[in-house]
Amino acid sequence: MNDNIHQKVGFLLDMDGVIYKGKKLIDGSAEFIAKLKEHDIPYLFLTNNSQRTRRDLALKLTRMGLETEPESILTCAIATARFLAEKKPDGTAYVIGENGLAAALDRNGITVVDDDADFVVVGEGRTINFENIEKAVRLVAKGAALIATNLDTTCPTDEGIRPGCGAIVAMIESATGIEAFSVGKPSPVMMRMARKTIGLRTDETIMVGDTMYTDVLGAVQMGYRSVLVLSGHTHEEDVKKYAYKPDLIASSLGGIPEGFFMIKKPE
Ligand SMILES: [Mg+2]
Repeated sequence: MNDNIHQKVGFLLDMDGVIYKGKKLIDGSAEFIAKLKEHDIPYLFLTNNSQRTRRDLALKLTRMGLETEPESILTCAIATARFLAEKKPDGTAYVIGENGLAAALDRNGITVVDDDADFVVVGEGRTINFENIEKAVRLVAKGAALIATNLDTTCPTDEGIRPGCGAIVAMIESATGIEAFSVGKPSPVMMRMARKTIGLRTDETIMVGDTMYTDVLGAVQMGYRSVLVLSGHTHEEDVKKYAYKPDLIASSLGGIPEGFFMIKKPE
């Protein structure tokens, strides 16, 4: 917040189950974003979806009635690409996944190859076949580093769940005996990158999500405040199954009381 009365805060906002569900904006989310804009409170949308580019996602939000710039979105595909580019500039990757992932790697100078890869990078998608898995397993067995964009085991769709990136990664891990390194939420790699992107300090950062083991866990590990919203797939009674807790449980983004984030500075 850029006034002198309130303590500075900023928001990291999960998308699916927080901003929208399926093809519909969740009630109150547009008003919440408008409030953040009005008070100059920085925010960044975060998603473990590596299938779509942030341009696609920005367009999706804009079409639903929430005007969004691609720069306001951080996907796990972009986080993965930046992370790998830092580790090995001009590296090569064999990719299991879709357009969003390949585009992010390419834009960050990682060449997508079919053989002799430094990394095997796994995202989710519906075009994966057994040949891809076989190739990935052989490359990892030969020494390529196994990188997951995220470890979510399922993806929500309008028709129900489908296997997520974590389920695909598990197959390769099982065949090779090698554990993947994951970059997406709750990994500190993506959580820290997100905070830095909007110029926040740890104690100024609030993460809002609908999933305990990604959004809330990621925040707890980083020392951010966290809000669990019940507008996605988590029910309030599910919270007791976890050893960590969010700082606040709200029905939806619109249900977060102003007093939670608009805190007056001590005189
Ligand atoms: Mg979500």
